[in-house]
Amino acid sequence: MEINEFRRAGHELVDWMADYLKDVERLPITPDVKPGDIRRSLPASPPQAAEPTEQLMNDFGRLILPGMTHWGHPGFFAYFPSNASPPSMLAEMLTAALGAQCMSWQTSPAATELEQVTMEWLRQMLALPEGFTGVIQDTSSTATLVALLTARERATGFAAAIHGLQGVERRLTVYTSRERHSSVDKAVRLAGYGIESLRLIDLDDAYAMRPDALEQAIQADIAQGLVPAVVVATTGTTGSTAIDPLRPIGEICRRHGIWLHVDASYAGTAAILPEKRWILDGVEFADSFVFNPHKWMLVNFDCSAYFVKDVDALLRTFSASPEYLRTAHDAEVANFRDWGIQLGRRFRALKLWWVIKSYGVEGLQAIIRRNCEWAESVAGWVRADSRFELMAPVPLGLVCFRLRAREGEDEAEVNERNRELLARVNATRQVYLSHTALDGRYTIRMAIGARATEFRHVREAWALIAATVE
Ligand code: PLP
Repeated sequence: MEINEFRRAGHELVDWMADYLKDVERLPITPDVKPGDIRRSLPASPPQAAEPTEQLMNDFGRLILPGMTHWGHPGFFAYFPSNASPPSMLAEMLTAALGAQCMSWQTSPAATELEQVTMEWLRQMLALPEGFTGVIQDTSSTATLVALLTARERATGFAAAIHGLQGVERRLTVYTSRERHSSVDKAVRLAGYGIESLRLIDLDDAYAMRPDALEQAIQADIAQGLVPAVVVATTGTTGSTAIDPLRPIGEICRRHGIWLHVDASYAGTAAILPEKRWILDGVEFADSFVFNPHKWMLVNFDCSAYFVKDVDALLRTFSASPEYLRTAHDAEVANFRDWGIQLGRRFRALKLWWVIKSYGVEGLQAIIRRNCEWAESVAGWVRADSRFELMAPVPLGLVCFRLRAREGEDEAEVNERNRELLARVNATRQVYLSHTALDGRYTIRMAIGARATEFRHVREAWALIAATVE
């Protein structure tokens, strides 16, 4: 593409993006497509001849856009928010233009140092302990895998040194709650612990991990000659934003020399609000901690903030310096390729920096605070309507509810009625909500936090739900 053509097409593209952001509300939030529809509409073989940008934009509008779910739609209440914001989009465009590989300090000095600075800003914003050092990972799933690999490295060395155990890696055990994210199970398998080493700890009434049950499980394993290695606690579970109590869990971990990893993927952002910092009470016990600015903090996917206490343990696990990557500065700089799995790294710190500067901490706080207040309003409407019941506490932006059982109705029938309600509400394509199962009970989840959502959209969504029940 010739550079003047790039300039012209780029301006048009930004105009398209601005119009999309302005008008996304008018689009159906989910596409009307069946599996295979999009694939069938595209040529099976690549074009031999070059196509002009006009043709590409035309095909995008005709073939791709109608098959998209609009995560930036103000009626998006499904899963957790995955926010794109205009400042983050601008920074992503610059990142694309720079096209830098940020694997070593030398390959992009500003990218490395901006990552160090922005991660320290985040540490302060969340009031994490001073000893924590941050690095950006692509996703929480990767960060949790990194944590489990580091913990395994430490546990094998540590246990072998203390006990002289042979084959200690086959005796390591991992603990997490029944409501953990599936990425924990994945990481346990990928990091070589073996899924049979995973202990799922029982929950309290609010779906949070019970420290007494954790202690019991650890004691039982020690009595069997096993070596408890890692606890993964969740601050804000995916199902219902339950908050595992980090302080008692951390005290147990400290007593037994167990690595504590905290998965605060969604909820971590809320700790920028002083009134929500209780969710991280006891985080000083953690060896590693992850949260996703790419969920609720308005930074485009992907950007996971991973913090560790012991940088050396991370480096011992991931360092690899073949001759062709060595530079004269290696002894005095951070080479982030040694802080995780991948070698090549995107310049993710730029969008993080852009977003924090563009909104300011106060601007971000106002948005998160508003989302939490709206969730409280929805919880109030659920409580006030005798047809519904609230399924879990609402500490943040997620409301879990369902239709109550009618007289004589069994669990399967209530589940079916709630499944049908959600299907009908989503079929309007004006809003999009998702579901989970809490204690085997089908539960509708309404996660408030899409950037474009205003209170009127929340009110309209609830009115739609209530009208659908009618
Ligand atoms: N952990 C929790 C608690 C989550 O809610 C999620 C996603 O919603 C994840 C991990 C996975 O996040 P990622 O997509 O960044 O891997």
